[in-house]
Amino acid sequence: MLLEDERAALCRVGRRLAETGLVTGASGNVSVRAGDLVAVTPGGVMLDRMEPADCPIVDARGRTVDGLRVPSSETPLHLALYEATPASAIVHTHSTYCAVVATTMTELPPIHYNTLLLGGVVKVAAYATYGTPELAANVRAAMEGGRRAALMANHGGVAIGGDLDEAFENARLLEWLCGVYVRAKMIGEPRVLTAEELAKVVERGLAPPEYGAPPEYGAPPEHGPPDLTG
Ligand SMILES: [Zn+2]
Repeated sequence: MLLEDERAALCRVGRRLAETGLVTGASGNVSVRAGDLVAVTPGGVMLDRMEPADCPIVDARGRTVDGLRVPSSETPLHLALYEATPASAIVHTHSTYCAVVATTMTELPPIHYNTLLLGGVVKVAAYATYGTPELAANVRAAMEGGRRAALMANHGGVAIGGDLDEAFENARLLEWLCGVYVRAKMIGEPRVLTAEELAKVVERGLAPPEYGAPPEYGAPPEHGPPDLTG
């Protein structure tokens, strides 16, 4: 089976996402890149009940090259982020506090220094219908500047990583940061860290891990939904 290890890894991450409450049911999706191919979770399948054979393999244009199931509807989002960032894995969730902040804010204020692990202030991508090239472009823009995560207005959050474990941990950190912010708002007005305070944390060396050179990748994805015919 093509990319068997990557497909098995998607299933493991799917179970961890469900166990940690970051996803429920079939919401959310995950992918991992290997060369110019991407293994992605299928649409409409419970993330904690997938088998490796359930996960399709697509090329850089979103064409299915292996697998019987339909790729996640957010495959254009994943492909756009692989084109625009050095990510090798992506986790997208509808986790509760991400959705709450993404429904009310234009960015997640930096109230905890660990936001720097995600590349700084987390932006909320403008709303667009799920699965569309517009949403992919909006998230891509929100991720500019070396960010490792973004929120998606009225939708959820997305995190990237150098591998699946890192993308999972970034998604978990994003949900934690949103949870702290929302709970802090319940008992008072959260104090936001100043640029100077954040700069001092950077001086101490807190930063996202460096990625190696991005793997070879094919032509940029065309706009439009994945072409499933071939
Ligand atoms: Zn979604």
